[in-house]
Amino acid sequence: MITVAEVIVDVAAYPVDRPFDYLVPAEMTNIMECGSRVKVPFGPRNVLGFVVALKNDTDVPLEKIKPITQILDIEPVLTGEMLQLAKWLKNETICYEIDALQVMLPSALRAKYEKVITLQTDVEHLPSSLKEWFEKSERVYLKQFEKNNLLPDIKKALKEKMVSLENVVQQKGKVKEVRKVRICPERETLTEIFNNISKRAKKQKLLVEWMFNHVGEIMEPDIIYKELNTSSQVLQAVIELGAASFIQQEVYRDPFTKDVKKTDFLNLTDEQSTALYKITDAMNRKQPETFLLHGITGSGKTEVYLQAIAKCLEEGKEAIVLVPEISLTPQMTERFRSRFGELVAVMHSELSVGEKYDEWRKVHQGKVKVVVGARSAIFAPFENVGIIILDEEHESTYKQEDSPRYHARDVAIWRSNYHSCPVILGSATPSLESFARSKKKVYTLLTLKERALKQSLPTVQVVDMRDELKQGNRSMFSQQLVESIRIRLERKEQIVLFLNRRGYSAFVLCRDCGTVLQCENCDISLTYHRSNEKCKCHYCGYEIHVPKTCPQCQSDHIRFFGTGTQKVEEEIAKLFPEARVLRMDVDTTKTKGSHEQLLQAFGDGEADILLGTQMIAKGLDYPNITLVGVLSADTSLHLPDFRAAEKTFQLLTQVSGRAGRHSKPGEVVIQTYTPEHYAIELAKSQEYEPFYEREMHMRHQAGYPPYYYLALIQISHHDVMMAAEYAGKAADWLRSKLSFNISIIGPTTAGISRLQNRYRYQCLIKYKIEPNLIPTLLQLIKLYRSDWIKKGIILTVDLDPTMI
Ligand code: ADP
Ligand code: ZN
Ligand code: ZN
Repeated sequence: MITVAEVIVDVAAYPVDRPFDYLVPAEMTNIMECGSRVKVPFGPRNVLGFVVALKNDTDVPLEKIKPITQILDIEPVLTGEMLQLAKWLKNETICYEIDALQVMLPSALRAKYEKVITLQTDVEHLPSSLKEWFEKSERVYLKQFEKNNLLPDIKKALKEKMVSLENVVQQKGKVKEVRKVRICPERETLTEIFNNISKRAKKQKLLVEWMFNHVGEIMEPDIIYKELNTSSQVLQAVIELGAASFIQQEVYRDPFTKDVKKTDFLNLTDEQSTALYKITDAMNRKQPETFLLHGITGSGKTEVYLQAIAKCLEEGKEAIVLVPEISLTPQMTERFRSRFGELVAVMHSELSVGEKYDEWRKVHQGKVKVVVGARSAIFAPFENVGIIILDEEHESTYKQEDSPRYHARDVAIWRSNYHSCPVILGSATPSLESFARSKKKVYTLLTLKERALKQSLPTVQVVDMRDELKQGNRSMFSQQLVESIRIRLERKEQIVLFLNRRGYSAFVLCRDCGTVLQCENCDISLTYHRSNEKCKCHYCGYEIHVPKTCPQCQSDHIRFFGTGTQKVEEEIAKLFPEARVLRMDVDTTKTKGSHEQLLQAFGDGEADILLGTQMIAKGLDYPNITLVGVLSADTSLHLPDFRAAEKTFQLLTQVSGRAGRHSKPGEVVIQTYTPEHYAIELAKSQEYEPFYEREMHMRHQAGYPPYYYLALIQISHHDVMMAAEYAGKAADWLRSKLSFNISIIGPTTAGISRLQNRYRYQCLIKYKIEPNLIPTLLQLIKLYRSDWIKKGIILTVDLDPTMI
């Protein structure tokens, strides 16, 4: 009987977006499993592939079928669940299956790597075929066994946990090792050595004598040096005599920069108990159920998560917690670690490739039970998921902008169906989509209306900056805000000042001719970075030194502008020379762990004012913060985005929530040029539902989600005429295939009309229910992949786009 593997190959192009049959060579049949990566011949070369199915027959004629070249994983890297999920992602987001498979793995597994087998027991216990390999070293490259046809033996030893298997990443990260000392396990040998050491070598004798109490132990050399006040030469000498040996031991890199204190469960408030009860009830019933936990800022949503997770762990299950961008919320991670300690792994963008890989392995090997991470942590390879939590579910970072264009919320719900477990979507300001679903009872709504410690919400004042201007105040601080800051400084309370970033990224402008430095490849102005005096494009990475003269008119009046936080900092220094200010923005948080250090310093009272952008809006929970100032509420309001009002409301509510969370009452001052806008008016009263009603009405009238669905088609080409022509073709084609009640807007130029030297056009499709849409889009893609692609066109489809 033959064994055939269906393999998805690592070539993202339409004609190959299906499984190919490969023959599993006889020596691999015992070890081949679905979810393993393999090397297979594809055309003239070998490519990476994923085994997605195994079977005993094939339609490919036997003389034509090619054998698998090499098996890369003896233990599969993808579970059966992940293989199913990939198929679903492929259909749901219209992507290549290979992209869906790759997105589930840490990048280390996509890079070059080498497999290593590590001994986990005494050499004596190994089967005789393997013994000689581990005599000299604890670690042997897997390829040694492969060459010598020993893979079946290794597989068996792996199952019996006598050895373990690791990927050693060759390029970016490596399994980290430390050198340790293993003291000789045989007492007789030690005695013999001891007797042979000459009396003059006192230190050596002392050391070996000490070793009698540590027979067979493994320890760090430093401990030996300290304990015996001895040197590395002495240790080296006794090692040469055979009393001990150096070994390499693998360690996980520690992504946590500091230790945390253990915390205990809090006594829940009535509202919290009710919410927790409903969640645990769903767990007991083993039902998939999606909860929307709508709780005002400071209402104790996190405590509900923590106790739900505790229950899940009691049942022997695992938990996945997503946070929007974890590097921005160190306090959040800390709260999970302080409750669950070593059982927590973190996955976020600030970790190195090696650290990410190590955290992933902890999950894959079952060493941890809780993952706290950003979007991609939704693919944590747990096999027994008991709960999935999305904190701040409204955040747009949960949607991936590149293929596969998935939303973590949808994947969470898919996995909850697979594992029959609950999903909790938590927010003080839920997305309109989610709240609408809770009204329709698709999600179960849980509400926390009061703050956990019964504090009242902060008072909010809105200051009209136009009036300030009329009164001759040209500063970016209103009278009101200055006064409020002064009072806090006197009372030694803390202040958070929030700058709505987008309108404030620094750019370089010529004061004589008005030229703004632009990227060579994109239609976007370059961002100025003071630290290295460079201007950089945030889209393509292009960078230049700040020129001394204007490239247009040669004037030397060329200066950077709108440096946002830096400028505010300077102004604070003028107004309040005595205030200690911590600035948190892209420039001050470049190095790893700097977010954490800055927040810690602020928490420890080392500064009076924390000044920052978006990144301070979330998670901050310090008792001494009693004033929050929003310098410019409008900047996010006027973005060309149908969610602009929603985002502004969310942001204002989030930052306001930072004030007065503990015993001292809080105050918020919002400065704006449009106080009459409903997003600002309703943020003032901090009531979600009136905002929801109002915004739903707007969306209904304008034909936007959640009333309509959106699909965005983007077309780009190096040549502007080609891009326009094919965008027109796509629009015409769609109009001819789709029914009349669908509106197709465009083609229009995209928000950023040129990116990396490609001109971009787009069509927006608005639809209600259109069973024909996905098949039609698939046909369009087929047309593109079989023909347009050859002309250099790139076409992408984004269902439910977050950015238009
Ligand atoms: P949210 O995530 O809803 O903004 P948090 O979970 O951060 O709220 O809770 C706000 C504050 O209230 C935190 O300092 C938290 O420790 C505290 N807290 C939450 N629940 C309780 C409780 N049941 N008893 C006492 N303090 C609580
Ligand atoms: Zn100029
Ligand atoms: Zn660029």
